[in-house]
Amino acid sequence: MSEREERVWEALRGVKFPGMSRDVVSFGFVQSVEAEDGVRVVLRIPTQNPGAGEQIKEEVEKALLALDMGAVEVALDVVLQERPERAQQQAISTDPGLLSGVQHVIAVASGKGGVGKSTVSSNLAVALAQLGYRVGLMDADIYGPSMPLMFGISDKPRVTDTGLLPFEKYGVRLMSLGFVLDIDTPVIWRGPMVMKAIEQLLGDVEWGELDYMIIDLPPGTGDAQLTLTQKVPLTGAVIVSTPQDVALIDARKGLAMFRKVNVPVLGMIENMSGFECPHCDKVVNIFGADGARRTAHVLDCPFLGKIPLDASIVLGGDNGVPVVHDEGPLRESFQRVAHEVIAQVASQAPRGPSFTIS
Ligand code: ADP
Repeated sequence: MSEREERVWEALRGVKFPGMSRDVVSFGFVQSVEAEDGVRVVLRIPTQNPGAGEQIKEEVEKALLALDMGAVEVALDVVLQERPERAQQQAISTDPGLLSGVQHVIAVASGKGGVGKSTVSSNLAVALAQLGYRVGLMDADIYGPSMPLMFGISDKPRVTDTGLLPFEKYGVRLMSLGFVLDIDTPVIWRGPMVMKAIEQLLGDVEWGELDYMIIDLPPGTGDAQLTLTQKVPLTGAVIVSTPQDVALIDARKGLAMFRKVNVPVLGMIENMSGFECPHCDKVVNIFGADGARRTAHVLDCPFLGKIPLDASIVLGGDNGVPVVHDEGPLRESFQRVAHEVIAQVASQAPRGPSFTIS
């Protein structure tokens, strides 16, 4: 790459996608750069907002003109994405006022309990924050809210005139019913109470402006999941499963439920996938191997990656430090999954027409 081209790439890295904290290069929107004589850049962006194209074009032009490298030409290919699923979902009863400052709402679900759904939710949220996004984490696992423990927070949330203030730790805004419930009392709630609790987590908390909101759902396919899909326009759901068949049967049910209510399934994550023996360094597949990958393939749903079975994940969860917080291979595994989720969010939904601004 010539020195002139390098300068252009550097300048493009300074242009953020509107409303996001990431730049157009890291999103993979830059198709080509020519800088021999003047500067010519081609961008291609998938978006649901046609106005975003004009804004990016203007900002890219401004950044390139500031380089003072001669004539600047920016061609922008905008691929409009439509959301027919969202339109149908909204027709049920989603409330446009809820989470209005949030760009992408992602539900993390599992068919059954104990597969690591909360572990994945917390680490995914922190991984997204590490990548520079503004992230919220809503613990809607009303029957077993574990985020207070996983984030090491035992205080009560502060209440202001306008609502409940989320906690902020590891770059993530966090709210959980665990902060207000007595942890030693079992939650025995009927449907309407579950719905009310979820509504309060959505509407009474001052979430503010966020790029991503991760919602840790209770396991299964009950009232909480339905309330959520009816109240909030979800960008999509991520399903967590362990590799063995018995967990995958339930994961398939979860996937079917989201599809039934027209929530896009962004993909499946395989947790507790292989254990590296500390004595012989061999990988032992305690719960089998690649079951979630195969199931994702059969069900025509993206596979977002694997997280190994590792004692430090348990320790991190119990000590209030999500394992992704520390450098190492587990951080890399969670960050790889986070990148896959980002890519699925950017590319999900059928593509609409494409047009070029130049
Ligand atoms: P769920 O939300 O599906 O009920 P949790 O996230 O609470 O599951 O995880 C259940 C238990 O399994 C916790 O003790 C957690 O630390 C542990 N765990 C989760 N994922 C892993 C993993 N990849 N390796 C080791 N232990 C894990």
